Amino acid sequence: MFTLTSVTKQYGSFRANDDISLTVQDGQIAVLVGPNGAGKSTLIKCMAGLLRHRGQITIDGYDNRSLEAKARLGYIPEIPAPYELLTVWEHLCFIARAYRLERGWEVRGRALLERLELLDKKDKLGKELSKGMQQKLSIACALLPQPKAVIFDEPLVGLDPHAIKELKEMMVELKQSGASVLISTHMLDSVEQLWDEAFILMNGRIAASLRRQDESGAEKSLEELFFRITEGERAGDLA
Ligand code: ADP
Repeated sequence: MFTLTSVTKQYGSFRANDDISLTVQDGQIAVLVGPNGAGKSTLIKCMAGLLRHRGQITIDGYDNRSLEAKARLGYIPEIPAPYELLTVWEHLCFIARAYRLERGWEVRGRALLERLELLDKKDKLGKELSKGMQQKLSIACALLPQPKAVIFDEPLVGLDPHAIKELKEMMVELKQSGASVLISTHMLDSVEQLWDEAFILMNGRIAASLRRQDESGAEKSLEELFFRITEGERAGDLA
């Protein structure tokens, strides 16, 4: 579970996140959407413990800056940053040591690489990987420790169709295993089948929190709901 309570982040005097409170329950997929500059990346970096902020963030009940929280969090950043001089397989070995994974992780690691079509690249160095391969490696590294809470920042950008299909399946499997999943994206149609909750961020604040089960009667797509909220009723009528 993720809980955010009155999270505020300022860059100098500018408030990029303004008093944000939200919860993503276990076994739920939430999407964080909003126009460019709304504050999504800032919020995700706060959640991942990469930026100082005011307010509280917990991951599976632990303060996000604690080791317990970090051990339970999988974070796939928008821009992958593999180690240039480690091979694909050495990345997984590094994660296994850092997270003190129990023996048997190798089977899971190979399966992850296979699903992401990286197994035949396991001896390639980080610097030899294409952008899409780096993205896949980043996903494999984040999921190897079987996280309880996962943040994907624009996960589908740059992936080939096979990887997009696999990744969507992995997201559903995470949800079914009881993990909380938060996806930040501007590709609304890509998460149309996945979301349970949607948080629409505008000007650093939550403009709307939607639950699919509340909206299903209205049969509006996430895209239609998004435009209704970000561009007002007129655009909603057009949608
Ligand atoms: P989004 O991910 O929704 O596009 P960001 O979180 O990247 O939005 O940015 C939110 C706002 O914060 C923008 O107005 C952006 O210019 C500003 N911002 C982001 N990073 C910094 C920074 N390091 N210093 C100052 N302002 C920043």
